Amino acid sequence: LSTPSAIALDPRKMAVTVRFAPSPTGYLHVGNARTALVNWLFARKAQGRFLLRFDDTDVERASIESERAIVEDLRWLGLEPDLAFRQSERIDLYAVWAERLKALGRLYPCYETPEELALKRKIAALGHQPPIYDRAALGLRPSEKAKYEAEGRRPHWRFLLEHREVAWDDLLRGPVAINAGTVSDPVLLRQDGVPLYALSSVVDDIEFGVTHIIRGEDHVTNTAAQIQLFEAFNAPWPQFAHLALLVGARGEGLAKRLKSLSLGELRARGIEPMALASHLARLGTAKPIEPVQTLSELAAGFDLGDFGRAPARFDVAELEALNAKFLHRLPYAMVRERLPEGADEAFWLAVRGNIRTLNEVRDWWRIVEGPVEPVIEDGALIAAARELLPAGVFDERSWTGWTRAIAAATGRKGRALYRPLRLALTGREQGPEMHNLLPLIGRERTLERLSRSAA
Ligand code: GLU
Repeated sequence: LSTPSAIALDPRKMAVTVRFAPSPTGYLHVGNARTALVNWLFARKAQGRFLLRFDDTDVERASIESERAIVEDLRWLGLEPDLAFRQSERIDLYAVWAERLKALGRLYPCYETPEELALKRKIAALGHQPPIYDRAALGLRPSEKAKYEAEGRRPHWRFLLEHREVAWDDLLRGPVAINAGTVSDPVLLRQDGVPLYALSSVVDDIEFGVTHIIRGEDHVTNTAAQIQLFEAFNAPWPQFAHLALLVGARGEGLAKRLKSLSLGELRARGIEPMALASHLARLGTAKPIEPVQTLSELAAGFDLGDFGRAPARFDVAELEALNAKFLHRLPYAMVRERLPEGADEAFWLAVRGNIRTLNEVRDWWRIVEGPVEPVIEDGALIAAARELLPAGVFDERSWTGWTRAIAAATGRKGRALYRPLRLALTGREQGPEMHNLLPLIGRERTLERLSRSAA
């Protein structure tokens, strides 16, 4: 990761800048990959910048392995950031911004222990009240604070929200208004002084000149507090766009299945990055989901406003079908390095319509190269086929000429003609067009397979 020095920019003069801000505490899954992709496409379309920010101030949960995996997954998807940085390397800076809030009287110390806070929430729940922090700490007398300090308690610090309506024009949800009085004052500094997400996120969005915050709708409530923070810092706030979340095929939450929906798992299943990107870029829009070959193409047709407000259904089976469709159209030039050694364009064009993942290419390559275990269904037919095998090098017309001659000699036609031949030559009931496969198998191997069948 490159560690930038803080840059103060005037967002009004800035090109589009977006950020993808994962916490490196786990895998990248379809949900956050979609957020990353949408940010990337939005930036690309606007010729802006895409930043990767690791929200890793929570050192107990963040890990370098997870960070590496995220970088790798993003690279696999083709989403290279213009700049990447870690919040953990900017802790001192957030502390400076926190001091500014203290000076403004907007950050106040609280001494409740986690147990005391949990108890307050429980009592609120029993009284059917929302679990909003009661601001008891605001009423502490200096002597009480001194007593806590003497006991060794260290305060955590909360941002004093102004209890008024916060409104913004969400690029996806339209006008949104949240009464800040219905939200707890967010904790910005932990007891140990570590800054928390609400603070560090806003500071970075200001310092890096983020113009658009595109993220999941689970952050809508956070936005109210964040907008008040931007205002407290006297900084213009970015535009917000909250994406409807992904749900499963039957509308269920994806949370429990996130591991199986991790990019690593999908990759292991043979999903192509561009199939995934094509799928995620259109899911939740009314536009058809089509396999697209490059991210640039996806960006050209991208419009943030296409995303609807209803949760988008993610179905692995649909992704797999799209993956197959993607491969069926994939030109040789885009896949050649990943094909088995010796496999040429004719081979790829012959088999691409018969695979669902690229792994299956190896099966067809083995069938072309052999050895194949021929299946004999009709010995007489195979014997005739061997007799009538055309001389010379096979081309795509050989199959038709040959099978016509076999039909004339044996009286077999249709399925009774083609099926035993396919089984004898490939050992399989189905597969690519035989007129394409036959020249790839070649005369020598064909003869050998027929001889073994007839034996
Ligand atoms: N780290 C936060 C998350 O992963 C970032 C949210 C945001 O984009 O502000 O949910």
